[in-house]
Amino acid sequence: MTGASTRVVVVGAGLAGLIAARDVAASGAEVTVLEARDRVGGRMRGVPMSSGVVADGGAAYLGRQHTELLQLVDDHRLDLVSTGMSGESTFLIDDQRTTTASRVPPLDAVALGDLFDRLEDLVETVRPNAPWLTPDADRLDRLSAQRWLVDGIARPDAHTFFPLFLGEMMAADPAAISVLHMAFYLRSGGGLRYLNAFEGGAQQWRIDGGAHLLAEELAEQLGDRVHVNQPVAAIDQDHHGVVVRCVTDTAHRQSEFRADRVIVAVPPLLAQRIDFRPGLSTPRATTATGRGCAIKVHLGYRSPIWREGGLSGWSVSTSGPLLSTVDDSPSDESAGVLTGFVTGAAASAFSALSPAGQRDAALAHVARLFPQLPPPDTCSITDWITEKYSRGCYAALFGPGDWLRLGPTLTEPHGRIHWAGTETSLEYFGLMEGAIRSGRRAAAEVIDAADATTDSSKVLVR
Ligand SMILES: Cc1cc2nc3c(=O)[nH]c(=O)nc-3n(C[C@H](O)[C@H](O)[C@H](O)COP(=O)(O)OP(=O)(O)OC[C@H]3O[C@@H](n4cnc5c(N)ncnc54)[C@H](O)[C@@H]3O)c2cc1C
Repeated sequence: MTGASTRVVVVGAGLAGLIAARDVAASGAEVTVLEARDRVGGRMRGVPMSSGVVADGGAAYLGRQHTELLQLVDDHRLDLVSTGMSGESTFLIDDQRTTTASRVPPLDAVALGDLFDRLEDLVETVRPNAPWLTPDADRLDRLSAQRWLVDGIARPDAHTFFPLFLGEMMAADPAAISVLHMAFYLRSGGGLRYLNAFEGGAQQWRIDGGAHLLAEELAEQLGDRVHVNQPVAAIDQDHHGVVVRCVTDTAHRQSEFRADRVIVAVPPLLAQRIDFRPGLSTPRATTATGRGCAIKVHLGYRSPIWREGGLSGWSVSTSGPLLSTVDDSPSDESAGVLTGFVTGAAASAFSALSPAGQRDAALAHVARLFPQLPPPDTCSITDWITEKYSRGCYAALFGPGDWLRLGPTLTEPHGRIHWAGTETSLEYFGLMEGAIRSGRRAAAEVIDAADATTDSSKVLVR
């Protein structure tokens, strides 16, 4: 247990920050959580549908390997819902609609097999606990995933499938990420096949009622230690402690919080914007660091009516906006919820449309995918590209050169400042599981540092 006099400020009330705060508070220290938005949860967010069902506007899926997340779900007595996948898949390949029992698009099987083999070979070479030490890391970090494809793979259908795959897995445009980042991400998430799978994979379940409930439960436990509408603009430190300064967006009012240690649990592009004094010796993000691009479209129906026609609701299209759809209906079938994913380059184009234009484009697409369905009763769109306090969804994308530049100091404290957030986790980077593991690691660092200070002051007193 740390002394009750140790004061810790946590910046960001996403899953990483809330878990860090929970662990630090449990050690007996005094914790204050500063959150820029008017809500907690960050990239986990509930979207109320008119049926009373709440859909996941941000993070949704989890699998058996996500042990910390499963423990948290259990601790808070939340339930899991299996992702609905029984029935035929629907494909819209070059505007040709087909339905089949297979989950894999009807493209050249040899091309897809070859692409997967090469990706798996690449993923195997990555050093998961130090990607920057991977053999040939220098070259792999400089090369974009797009160049890797163009240089090494000839079959046209592999070129058709690759951006869809990276869009779905990482919300990434292949031109925006390094090969090392792609390979690391796939390795860190449990491997290509696990990450890509629903049954037995990373998309096996959702949290009943929405993943954001976890953040709300954690915040409720922390009570008045959590302060919303507090965007942190500057962090000053010296030998005596840290001063964290917030500037509110609207009234330009400033507030100050003093601490012995700070945990910064915000995405790297946002950490880079904080004014640290003294300044950081290595950046948190570079000009190559990109934003993952994801927009979710939720289509609401009276029930999952596609199931009546033997369809699973799972679809893949080779052109946007809805590159894939998933059946996210509640388990009691009291409503039908089809989630459309707009990712990668398609998301940037979609985000530029007006709200009416986005809705029209989404409804036109779903009518081509499922012509037998009536128009949905509701259509809600969660556009993460324009979210000031996320800057990258599902996660930040490490561009060419980033892993060698940022990787070795990803978790290295800057004096009294410690780092959390899913992008600081080498395990399950970019996922809720990574966020939890990062929060726990940062909390343990702070608790250890406080214990070390207490021990040395005991020695001095004697
Ligand atoms: C559309 C979408 C789909 C996803 N799907 C999945 C999925 O199916 N499964 C999965 O495991 N993961 C998924 N993810 C990723 C998952 O949401 C994240 O990995 C996880 O929530 C990140 O948590 P975090 O605490 O690291 O960061 P965040 O959730 O981003 O939390 C950071 C917090 O810091 C706040 N903040 C930012 N700047 C400041 C500042 N200057 N001062 C104070 N506060 C600040 C933010 O408002 C935010 O609340 C998805 C994400 C999105 C957006």
